[in-house]
Amino acid sequence: MPRRRLPVQDTQVQDVQAWVVPDLTPILHKLARQYFPDAKALPVIVWHFPRRKTTNEVTFGWYRPCEKFIYISLALSQPWVPRKFLQYIVYHELCHFMQDVYPVEGEPVHSDRFLEWEARMPGAAKWDAWSQTNLDQYIREHNRLVKASNGGR
Ligand SMILES: [Zn+2]
Repeated sequence: MPRRRLPVQDTQVQDVQAWVVPDLTPILHKLARQYFPDAKALPVIVWHFPRRKTTNEVTFGWYRPCEKFIYISLALSQPWVPRKFLQYIVYHELCHFMQDVYPVEGEPVHSDRFLEWEARMPGAAKWDAWSQTNLDQYIREHNRLVKASNGGR
């Protein structure tokens, strides 16, 4: 039987679908129960498929106060990324949400209370170091997703 090569575009789509993307909501809710048991509300959390441009900069996740949404880059869902690192990023964004729903006027983005909350989760220094060590791979994966979403263009 002759071997048939898949068109490049199909191959890329298969690559993108070749891993199980975890559900972020249970991760967020577990962290909220553990670290902010008195929280009256929680944000919505969704994966963000990087589309717009290839990059040399890194954004793992972000919180949008106007929507009360947390966005996490889909590149972090891949199997080579430790789940503890993903949790660390989700927790960082949860701290932004908590700062937003209990605002203090004139407070900086990473205020003292923010840093105190963040430090309650063990391993922050370790995961900061991990992100620095793995930055290049992360950027490659991010850019690969951007290319895939553009149909390989
Ligand atoms: Zn931040």
